[in-house]
Amino acid sequence: MAITVVGSVAFDSIETPAGRRERCLGGAATHFSLAASFFCDVRVIAVVGEDFGPEQEAVFKARDIDIRGIERAKGKSFFWAGSYLDNLNEAKTQATELNVFGSFQPKIPEAYRDSEFLFLANIDPVLQRHVREAMPKAKLVAGDTMNYWIKDHRPALLEVLKGLDILLINDTETRMLADKSNLVQAARSVLTMGPRMLVVKHGEYGATAFHRATPDGLGAKTFRAPALPLEEVVDPTGAGDSFAGGFFGYLAAQPELTPGSFRRAMFYGSVMGSFAVERFGTERLQKLTHQEIEERFLLFRELTHLD
Ligand code: AMP
Repeated sequence: MAITVVGSVAFDSIETPAGRRERCLGGAATHFSLAASFFCDVRVIAVVGEDFGPEQEAVFKARDIDIRGIERAKGKSFFWAGSYLDNLNEAKTQATELNVFGSFQPKIPEAYRDSEFLFLANIDPVLQRHVREAMPKAKLVAGDTMNYWIKDHRPALLEVLKGLDILLINDTETRMLADKSNLVQAARSVLTMGPRMLVVKHGEYGATAFHRATPDGLGAKTFRAPALPLEEVVDPTGAGDSFAGGFFGYLAAQPELTPGSFRRAMFYGSVMGSFAVERFGTERLQKLTHQEIEERFLLFRELTHLD
């Protein structure tokens, strides 16, 4: 099974209590695809500038990620600068430069068109919608967004939500999107906007799946997966995308989607998020092994098992 993902491929400058990194490889689609690549085939749609070279390309190639859909354009790649000095659970954005994404017209390679799973990672909702419409055969479509798009690009975002099965966002974004302070009420309201399932990420406190009652497997009860209590968080950047990559990658690898697969997917999401924060940027996922993933999954079971 294969996932096609569209989203930012970027350079990030990051400041956390553990230190800083200038212009390291980042972007929502980057973190997502690295995490998902441990579970299934991943194909990326994005655009990069002339500053994206063999060093960055090698990070994708080492995990066999298909980057034929990453277009090279004249100019600079997407750039984001963020700081976590005040709060490790929420980035303070210091700069967002869309650069080549400002005029991007996504082209979907022929080889991507049979993807049954589509992930609309964080990027301009106009681009997310374009890709959604170009892939009508996708059987499960999930997506992410952030405050930047919720605040200033709401009409375009509401159009994207209509085409999603699953939305993954954090608790602040859920409240902002619904304009409600109570999380459960906010989640209920978001579930009327399109998605059948909403996964709310709570940073160091885990994630909760809310469902709209439907006759198929998605109409299950509310479910919470914990996050691993960690002694040190080096850099939270990409934790949400890595969660999404583990979650959606695990689902794409299942022969059949049952309520149980969605619950296990929540745990694999938490597993991938817990690794992502251990080093700066993509450093930890680049070195990760399947064995480490399975060991950590067992640790999560122990953390929550009653008997
Ligand atoms: P997260 O998983 O939420 O920590 O996502 C972090 C990634 O999102 C970083 O690597 C950034 O490059 C990327 N990012 C930040 N702002 C935006 C934006 N407005 N649109 C798309 N991607 C962004």
